[in-house]
Amino acid sequence: MKVTLLQSSPEPIKAIYLACRTCYSQKPPTELEPNDEAKMLTLIRRTLSSGHHSVLEHATFSFSIEGVSRALTHQLVRHRIASYAQQSQRYVDFSTTETPAITIPPKIKGKNLEKFNAVIADIYSLYKDLVSEGIEPEDARYILPNAAHTNIIVTMNYRELMSFSKLRLCFKSQWEIQHMTREMRKAVATVHVELAGFLEPKCQHLGYCDEKVPCGHYVFNDESDAVRRKVREKWLQ
Ligand SMILES: Cc1cc2nc3c(=O)[nH]c(=O)nc-3n(C[C@H](O)[C@H](O)[C@H](O)COP(=O)(O)OP(=O)(O)OC[C@H]3O[C@@H](n4cnc5c(N)ncnc54)[C@H](O)[C@@H]3O)c2cc1C
Repeated sequence: MKVTLLQSSPEPIKAIYLACRTCYSQKPPTELEPNDEAKMLTLIRRTLSSGHHSVLEHATFSFSIEGVSRALTHQLVRHRIASYAQQSQRYVDFSTTETPAITIPPKIKGKNLEKFNAVIADIYSLYKDLVSEGIEPEDARYILPNAAHTNIIVTMNYRELMSFSKLRLCFKSQWEIQHMTREMRKAVATVHVELAGFLEPKCQHLGYCDEKVPCGHYVFNDESDAVRRKVREKWLQ
């Protein structure tokens, strides 16, 4: 898997700050003077805690996600407030590749791995036969597995990136998409460490874990956390 930040708003903090200030200033946006980063971050933090999250939509991030499984991208594209461009299995012919490009879950080991690889080899052999007999890739692809690699570009605004991270940075989320989300956060940190810092799993925002079986990483550090959790558990029964 390779995750690269292709582009982002040139000054994401300034973009979000200007959106915040425009709401509460007599001055128009062009006359606001955003130059004190600490001041900008203080206002952004206050905005985050107040729930005025639409201002976060003014900063955007585009990532190139390469060599991930179709199982991953099927989960990724469920996030609707994002834009995607994905390698097509209709138009790209995979019969010319030597070895199948696939993701193998690390838990598949030993004898199971041997069986897994044998089935994958059979699948790609049949795919090649179908294409060589004139079946178009758009039909031959019906045999391809969830493990098949794909490349995708995803563009998210910062609000969506936060909402996505809440779900996919959770230790209970599926390992491959969780790993990709961590890589996306690392890529954001290359532009702005503080913005990467706000990308956290949902427990860090909720103050408790809402999973049926918690991962155990979240530390309930005061009584109110325990009370909130009890109320929620009762409500979910
Ligand atoms: C651990 C886990 C397990 C999952 N298991 C399954 C499963 O078994 N089956 C399955 O089908 N899916 C499953 N999903 C996918 C899940 O149901 C969501 O489709 C996915 O996580 C996208 O979340 P979202 O809708 O909040 O995100 P986005 O589509 O990115 O939306 C972001 C936010 O925008 C708002 N929003 C977006 N669209 C609308 C709308 N039409 N109306 C109102 N508000 C909107 C909501 O506040 C939403 O949270 C799973 C997800 C996770 C994290």
